[in-house]
Amino acid sequence: MRNLLGGKGANLAEMTNLGMPVPQGFTISTEACTKYYEDGEKISEDLEKSIMEYIEKMESVTGKKFGDLENPLLVSVRSGARASMPGMMDTILNLGLNDSVVVAFAEKTGNPRFAYDSYRRFIQMYSDVVMEVGKKYFEELIDQLKEKKGVKLDTELTADDLKLLAEQFKAEYKKKIGSDFPSDPKMQLMGAIKAVFRSWNNPRAIYYRRMNDIPGSWGTAVNVQAMVFGNMGETSGTGVAFTRNPSTGERKLYGEFLMNAQGEDVVAGVRTPKSIDHLKEIMPECYAQFVEISNKLEKHYRDMQDMEFTIENKKLYMLQTRNGKRTAAAALKIACDLVDEGMINEKEAVCMIDPKQLDALLHPQFDVIALKKAKPIAMALAASPGAACGKVVFTAEDATEWATKRNEKVILVRLETSPEDIEGMHYSEGILTVRGGMTSHAAVVARGMGTCCISGCGEIKMDLEYKCFTLGGRTFKEGDFISLDGSSGKIYGEAIPTVEASISAELGRLMGWADQYRVLKVRTNADTPKDAKQAVLFGAEGIGLCRTEHMFFDGERIKAIREMICSDTVEGRTKALAKLEPMQQGDFEELYEALGGNPVTIRFLDPPLHEFVPTVKEDIEELAKTMGKTVNDIENIIASLHEFNPMMGHRGCRLAVTYPEIAAMQTRAVIKAALKVKTKHPDWNLFTEIMIPLIGDLKEFSYVKSIVVKAADELIKNSNINLEYKVGTMIEIPRAALTADEIAEEADFFSFGTNDLTQMVFGFSRDDAGKFLDAYYTNKIYESDPFARLDIPGVGKIVKFAVEAGRRVRPNIKLGICGEHGGDPSTVAFCHEIGLDYVSCSPFRVPIAKLAAAQAAIRQKK
Ligand code: PEP
Ligand code: MG
Repeated sequence: MRNLLGGKGANLAEMTNLGMPVPQGFTISTEACTKYYEDGEKISEDLEKSIMEYIEKMESVTGKKFGDLENPLLVSVRSGARASMPGMMDTILNLGLNDSVVVAFAEKTGNPRFAYDSYRRFIQMYSDVVMEVGKKYFEELIDQLKEKKGVKLDTELTADDLKLLAEQFKAEYKKKIGSDFPSDPKMQLMGAIKAVFRSWNNPRAIYYRRMNDIPGSWGTAVNVQAMVFGNMGETSGTGVAFTRNPSTGERKLYGEFLMNAQGEDVVAGVRTPKSIDHLKEIMPECYAQFVEISNKLEKHYRDMQDMEFTIENKKLYMLQTRNGKRTAAAALKIACDLVDEGMINEKEAVCMIDPKQLDALLHPQFDVIALKKAKPIAMALAASPGAACGKVVFTAEDATEWATKRNEKVILVRLETSPEDIEGMHYSEGILTVRGGMTSHAAVVARGMGTCCISGCGEIKMDLEYKCFTLGGRTFKEGDFISLDGSSGKIYGEAIPTVEASISAELGRLMGWADQYRVLKVRTNADTPKDAKQAVLFGAEGIGLCRTEHMFFDGERIKAIREMICSDTVEGRTKALAKLEPMQQGDFEELYEALGGNPVTIRFLDPPLHEFVPTVKEDIEELAKTMGKTVNDIENIIASLHEFNPMMGHRGCRLAVTYPEIAAMQTRAVIKAALKVKTKHPDWNLFTEIMIPLIGDLKEFSYVKSIVVKAADELIKNSNINLEYKVGTMIEIPRAALTADEIAEEADFFSFGTNDLTQMVFGFSRDDAGKFLDAYYTNKIYESDPFARLDIPGVGKIVKFAVEAGRRVRPNIKLGICGEHGGDPSTVAFCHEIGLDYVSCSPFRVPIAKLAAAQAAIRQKK
């Protein structure tokens, strides 16, 4: 019942059914949350009534009463969505305390210090979460009191100190809110439930959902449970544990706990927790019971579990279990181990890996030679693997700003991270924190993102005011380079180059299973022989898009293409094209060689002119010299090439229509290369596919195709080699999609260019949309970037229309996608559903697309 009760609620119910010790409580469903939003952020009378009924039930089951002065009931109010969103939403603990209840509570527990500590924590949490008074005001009050008392730790404050703090906190609340702190537990409860509902739409939750494809319509459930206390003294404690190691996948209970502490203390990283093994020594019975429960839970859910527990006066309580977040390496090991242990089958193993997570495995590691020369300056916890190198920044905002606006690679260095930092963490190459253990926020979140992270480096002396820190006898300022090895925990005070990743045995095994089940072929978008080789290593089954203009980004080559663009006569252009032809032919030969006979789709030139014309004075001068023109001539030509909307300008097939010699040259280069490679490998069945970009009309396509066919057939005839080639088109202009039946009369294949198609269906400029899309996410108009994840209801609809229209006319037409969406798992699933033949994506996303394709096929058959 995860959809209705949220993950936490469903699993709490399940654990209760399994006879495990779970504090009594009830779950308010996700439907109630969506209704709350539908009703204009109001809790209906019916819901309020039913909440109060369940409170009464809880009272009768526990024998405690809300607001009672004999035996008071205190509750926790915790969020829990369908998909786990660790730390993204809000929680309130110790609810039900007020000035009179706290006295009764102190008496009942015989522990006034504990009672007042719980009270001041509650006021602080409630003020922060429900009333949005910042935490910092309360932290300042704690610091002032500690200074006055001459103590360093919170634990050194006495019951009277904490009582005083509670008074000060209430006064602070009144100052900020203008009314007294609510003393009625029922009012407190309704405020807390509303706050949890609200937290579904806080900025970090919205951002997390966008990153993880979680729809905003799901809503969160709310779990109300009787409090159990890990901070009741030295026979109480709280902790988190995984049934297997979440970093490596090793089959061994792995976790941390703190004695005399409450929930958030462990994950917040304020105190450094102890390993779960230590619990065996200090509380052997609790440990044994916990081990038994964790084994049972893993068998029950048939997956690695991440559990939260509390021990109250030697009695163990389970507060949560969920399928644990894990590194990509651990995910693969666990999936393979579970198959070997007979716990799951291969299909289930394929479906249990989040395709996006493979990114982390496929990402760079340090260059081994450079690493040997480098000397680590310190070492801390290897919280999330991978190698990272970048410039130091100290705030999440700076990380986002430097990465997005200045295009810098950054390492975020923080005392500890908190959920507000999520966006900056996402943009960082690596994260380094001073505090926190392996289950701290930074560690858990970075692991989930696949971002390298080192945590708990207590040797760092931070100076946030001057934006610098000292470590290993050196001072690092904002902007200085450091490198992190998230697999060993080593920190380097210098830039270390990184190299591409290599595939692990487990990845190979899993990909083997994925290959058995997927229907979609996976090709790659590769423009250079180097990229093509990399993609083949990752298992690409062809090239779905070679952007031929990208073959000219290099220093010398760009000069030749500029010469072509700036030619104002056919002769001049032919001269420039003659320079380009051998370069292209050579590259195409290498592409065919790299693909070993698999299909290669070569897309004809599609340079948005503004990306290619020279802008720097020296380049203009050099071009003038080469072309035998004056600088003024070239400047005039450049001015005449200026376009107001280059993305909708003189690019794609429009170039071939105006300058047919360009298409003829490219055809020669493609066919000559194919003939040469075919001579070398006569047994290869070379599939040459020439793709015409930006077609909007059948006549336009036919015109360019006729140029291609003429040039190609002449070469093939003269060669006496039997070479087949196909001419197809990209479908990236809405008109092409709408007239796909007509275009299919002539086109051998369609490849959906969903970058341009998205641009033109939405009317959003690909180059500029980033500037305003953020406002669309914040205002919940869009949940994700339509340029990253295909907009299925809109752009997807037009793709599906073109697929059906194309197939009606040419039933065997080959259909693929080559926009950036081709490597996005949700888009891959859509491509499977509408029956495309292949997806094409960047080399590093090939394994991701393969896995997503297998998952789509398996899920469809279920
Ligand atoms: C597209 O538009 O989706 C495409 C693949 O072409 P480009 O990104 O080169 O415009
Ligand atoms: Mg395009």
